[in-house]
Amino acid sequence: RLEVRNLVRRFNGRPVVDHVSLSIQPGQVTCLLGPSGCGKSTTLRIIAGVERQETGEVLLDGKLISGDGRDLPPERRGIGLMFQDFALFPHLSVADNVAFGLRSGSREERRARVEELLHRVDLLRFIDSYPHELSGGEQQRVALARAIAPRPRIMLMDEPFSGLDNRLRDGIRDETLDLLKAEDAAVLLVTHEPDEAMRMADEIALMRQGRIVQRGAPYTVYTRPADRAAVSFFSDTN
Ligand code: ATP
Ligand code: MG
Repeated sequence: RLEVRNLVRRFNGRPVVDHVSLSIQPGQVTCLLGPSGCGKSTTLRIIAGVERQETGEVLLDGKLISGDGRDLPPERRGIGLMFQDFALFPHLSVADNVAFGLRSGSREERRARVEELLHRVDLLRFIDSYPHELSGGEQQRVALARAIAPRPRIMLMDEPFSGLDNRLRDGIRDETLDLLKAEDAAVLLVTHEPDEAMRMADEIALMRQGRIVQRGAPYTVYTRPADRAAVSFFSDTN
């Protein structure tokens, strides 16, 4: 379970993340939804530990991992990341890409985990291929397998589907959800597309100008937006 409390981050004196609090349960997808520039990626980066908050705390299963003078480095947070530029390592095979984050277990166990995941994203036949031999969508599925392989309890995803065409996107979205739910991960997914949030979220956190302005089930947020700005955000067909 991930909990963030009162995160604040300013750039050039302007609050970009303005007292953001969130909590995310295992097996649940929370979508951080809001217009471009509202502070979604910065929030995610703070939780991941690659950006620093000025004040506020990040807790994992009740344990403080950042804030109050404490700051666990990103690689020790047990948080999985998947970003838009999901770049695989071009010089590593598909198998080695997926195995990259696996540190525990024997060689055989790690290999079994890689095979299991590649099977689930339907790419086992590419296990010994290199990234340049795969299509963009296939590479994205490898990136998904790589992100999930170490069984992160928390998965942070920043517009991971935005590079894909519509036809591919639906399939990969569903696959991603299935995999993450099967692993019982707590997922925080950033998007600026209401449709994507409606489709994927168990809970939506609507963000504007650095603040969470509304939280709730997708249907509730959609049918009962908190204010006029939320209404126009949902009806804006960009
Ligand atoms: P998008 O949907 O376009 O990705 P976002 O909600 O993810 O937007 P952020 O990337 O969090 O937005 O940026 C929020 C604001 O903070 C933007 O106005 C951005 O210019 C500013 N910002 C982000 N990082 C920095 C930085 N390192 N230095 C200065 N300003 C920054
Ligand atoms: Mg962003």
